[in-house]
Amino acid sequence: MKDTPLPVTNGESVDCDVIVIGGGASGLMAATVAAERGQRVLLLEKNRELGKKVRISGGGRCNITNAEMDVRMLLKKYGEAEQALYAAFARFGVPETFEFFTSRDLPLTVEVNKRAFPETERAADVVRVFEQALAAAQVEVKTGVAVTKVRSENGRVSGVVADNVVYRARSYVLATGGVSHPETGSTGDGFAWLAAMGHTVAAPSPTIVPLATSEAWSHTLAGKSVRAKVTFYSEEKKAFAETGNILFTHFGISGPTVLNAAARVADLLWKGSVIARLDCFPELDEGALDRELVARFDAEKNKVLRNVLRGLLPGVATGVLAALPTIDPEKKVHSVTKEERRFLVRSLKALPLTVTGLMGFDRAVVADGGVLLAEVDTKTMRSRLMDNLYITGDLLHIRRPSGGFSLQLCWTTGYLAGMSA
Ligand SMILES: Cc1cc2nc3c(=O)[nH]c(=O)nc-3n(C[C@H](O)[C@H](O)[C@H](O)COP(=O)(O)OP(=O)(O)OC[C@H]3O[C@@H](n4cnc5c(N)ncnc54)[C@H](O)[C@@H]3O)c2cc1C
Repeated sequence: MKDTPLPVTNGESVDCDVIVIGGGASGLMAATVAAERGQRVLLLEKNRELGKKVRISGGGRCNITNAEMDVRMLLKKYGEAEQALYAAFARFGVPETFEFFTSRDLPLTVEVNKRAFPETERAADVVRVFEQALAAAQVEVKTGVAVTKVRSENGRVSGVVADNVVYRARSYVLATGGVSHPETGSTGDGFAWLAAMGHTVAAPSPTIVPLATSEAWSHTLAGKSVRAKVTFYSEEKKAFAETGNILFTHFGISGPTVLNAAARVADLLWKGSVIARLDCFPELDEGALDRELVARFDAEKNKVLRNVLRGLLPGVATGVLAALPTIDPEKKVHSVTKEERRFLVRSLKALPLTVTGLMGFDRAVVADGGVLLAEVDTKTMRSRLMDNLYITGDLLHIRRPSGGFSLQLCWTTGYLAGMSA
């Protein structure tokens, strides 16, 4: 710690300027910024290592921000919080995030949809930047220390308790994260403390929801269903598959199989593109399906393809054929070439659907739940209920899609808390 060592009071408490609870993305930023402006900072993290969720973010590559440099355009992604966050993002937004990391030897690279990643493609390098900064700024970091209680009196936090030790400071930054992936340490402790202190804590959106897809042909089949094996691909790599009834909707796909896969799909969407491939004949391999088509084409030579396929795919044949523009559905089957038939077989075994998000409140992949923004001064991230308490990151109820917008929110709110606490 800085200059004077922290006095130990009554053999139990440690006094300092700022205590940051939680060493995830926003807590790391808050602790770094507060210490670099000269505050004596104590960082308490219950895991043995810092930044456990950052390390798995973006599939281990860390989609660190979204390179939308126009603050107004960027804020459109934060839904109802757009206005409230303007001052915060104007002070520390995407350009400042780029500057923060590149000036600390972590150059960033921008990919499709403006997703920005460290050039090294290693999320652990993001944590390393903070570890170095915390050490340089003499932050006292205590890992393996779980805070069990936040004490408050007369509208102020008076101390935090961990392992029967009371830690006291002038200001407190609460950065304990939300509830997703609890194995990373985010177990919702902060929500409980904030509610006990009188804050309104909104519940997170459900993740058992339909999926939104972009292909128009799938929307035309709304209300129809097909028994299929659906295989999800993340960034073109096979992730997992499920078989069951797939229900088409005006926006995408649903049905129990899809609903139950949604939470896993949400994780894949954090990493990048997701394609769902529908195998409409899971019980037949390509050879068997080809033989089935040959038999049907022979038996119904003078019928058009659309009508023959109706026998195989009741209710969905026309929509499915719309997905294959190179094949004429009005063609008599006797004139369908071998190449066309083989293409049809391959397509019916792997119809691609681009998954654009979860159909939650915003029909998008959202992360939310937490303290209502109205209860926080968004210029400083100070609680409007507790004078010396600052709230950051996933503890705030702000809906946003995947694409780097969550971590940007952590950098912004962590910076403001670090500057103000
Ligand atoms: C699989 C996955 C991938 C993601 N990928 C991306 C991505 O690429 N880009 C993006 O923008 N967003 C991504 N996100 C979201 C992003 O990671 C989070 O928004 C962000 O990490 C939240 O940071 P935070 O500081 O609020 O909390 P967290 O990172 O959750 O950190 C909270 C910390 O507090 C500690 N803590 C909790 N309780 C206590 C306690 N009682 N005492 C002491 N310490 C405690 C925890 O151990 C934890 O280290 C992803 C999320 C997930 C689940």
